[in-house]
Amino acid sequence: MKKLIAIIILYVINTSILFSQTETLKKPKLVVGIVVDQMRFDQLYKYEEKYSNDGFKRLMREGFNYKNTQYNYIPTVTAPGHASIYTGTTPSMHGIVGNSWYDRYLGQDVDNVKDTTEIIIGSKEGNNTGISPKKLLTNTISDQLRMSNNFKSKVISISFKDRAAVLPGGHTANAAYWHDWQTSPGYFVSSSYYMNELPDWVTKFNNLGRSNQYLDTVWNTLYPLENYIESAADNNKYEWILRGKSSPTFPYDFKKLRETYKELNTEYQLLWISPYGDKLLTDFAMEAIKNENLGVDDATDMLTISYSVPDVVGHTFGLQSVELEDIYLRLDLEIGKLLKYLDEKVGKGAYTLFLTSDHGAIQVASYLNDLKLPTGIARIAQYKDTLTGYLNTKLGDDSWIQNFDGNQVYLNRSTISKHGLQLQSVQQDVADFLANLNGISGALTAYNLQTNEYNDGLRKLLQNGYHQKRSGDIILTFDPGFIQSSNSELDISSVKGAAHGTGYAYDTHVPLLWFGYGITHGESIRKISVTDISPTLAMMLNLQLPSGNIGNPLAELF
Ligand SMILES: [Zn+2]
Repeated sequence: MKKLIAIIILYVINTSILFSQTETLKKPKLVVGIVVDQMRFDQLYKYEEKYSNDGFKRLMREGFNYKNTQYNYIPTVTAPGHASIYTGTTPSMHGIVGNSWYDRYLGQDVDNVKDTTEIIIGSKEGNNTGISPKKLLTNTISDQLRMSNNFKSKVISISFKDRAAVLPGGHTANAAYWHDWQTSPGYFVSSSYYMNELPDWVTKFNNLGRSNQYLDTVWNTLYPLENYIESAADNNKYEWILRGKSSPTFPYDFKKLRETYKELNTEYQLLWISPYGDKLLTDFAMEAIKNENLGVDDATDMLTISYSVPDVVGHTFGLQSVELEDIYLRLDLEIGKLLKYLDEKVGKGAYTLFLTSDHGAIQVASYLNDLKLPTGIARIAQYKDTLTGYLNTKLGDDSWIQNFDGNQVYLNRSTISKHGLQLQSVQQDVADFLANLNGISGALTAYNLQTNEYNDGLRKLLQNGYHQKRSGDIILTFDPGFIQSSNSELDISSVKGAAHGTGYAYDTHVPLLWFGYGITHGESIRKISVTDISPTLAMMLNLQLPSGNIGNPLAELF
């Protein structure tokens, strides 16, 4: 009898523990969105053997893995990537058509987040140009969360890059912070858009001088160099050599290198190619969780973190480099540390986390060329000269091109109307001409994009990336494997570092892992888009969809 009572009591205790975890928690206390800048899907597996059990592999082991997650627009670069993840729509609607773009009304390039009506907060030198999300035309899932409960939910958004902090937080974030290497000694700063002064905890963090301390380090590989068999030899011709060094090889003595970079006022930018940059951001994320009391009360909070170092290291050394491999092995440890901290502070199973990337990347063009794989250089300056000659000969000498940068041609519309020509027919003429040039795989006119509905392939991606006010008159795609360059002299054999921006799979195929509250283990090979992330969160949290949403909730998770 006593035994039976004991069993019953035990049963009651057990179920009450069970209830307190599953029944009382109707939604996660915190949503954590992690973006790893330039991470490709294959990087989850390429270095898998060396990853710890607590980082990427824990997310894959316990969480849900969407193995066929794709970007669904061109251009695949950082600002549109972050905007699309958090708005559930593409540049055609959220308006972030690039990291910067040509504004035909102002006649100049504009940055996606720079805003002369705001100032940087927390910078050592005041009155520099501030930052805001005002060019983002739709709202975000973070905005919907804030609006859902009269702003009781907190949204904090952090990164090394300003755009990667600002865009995820949407229009109503409590704060966005990024690493200012230009005007401060490596401080985390914000903008007058959010606040008039930094909270005490951020000032205290800055005063710890960690940027300075983390720069006084020597970067050696985590494991002995001979273990990096997934990568090319450390010394190879596809990598940039840092100023002050004679080869692109370990060790990187940042303490010594910073002296050279100090003269150029860029010494703190060295943290952007150091594993200590990711460490610094993780430190800052944990401080934000603690000091902002994220995930403490009933209202679900949101923390967005974007790791920028992998992108900069990819551009500097390429995908074949030991440097990039080591960055991922160490980022894995940072993610493990962050998960452990979240388990302790917010509670195991009390937060929902997703990890994805803002775009992929292609191997170094010279490396592909040496391996006889398809590659080449799309020479923008040369295209522009050829087109200018063609239009002057055909239509008469005049200023026909207002701007030709990357894959966008902006025609001079006043010249066209002065000559009594139709914009639409000049657009088509230019598109037909350019499509014949070496390296250009296709050219669509703005008129094509406005009047047709493309359902598939690169044309669909161009259409999703096209915004009538912000995009050009003719939009180009280049051959697979081609990289763009404004340098007409550049020889393919001297190209160094990775690139991205196209609609090909090397740039569009990214990881997407879900983990924590509400997520059961599994994986799917269904083709999904990054624009499906926000509507999934909307369904999980019972929120209205973001204003421009075109994505679909990921049914496998429900
Ligand atoms: Zn990049």
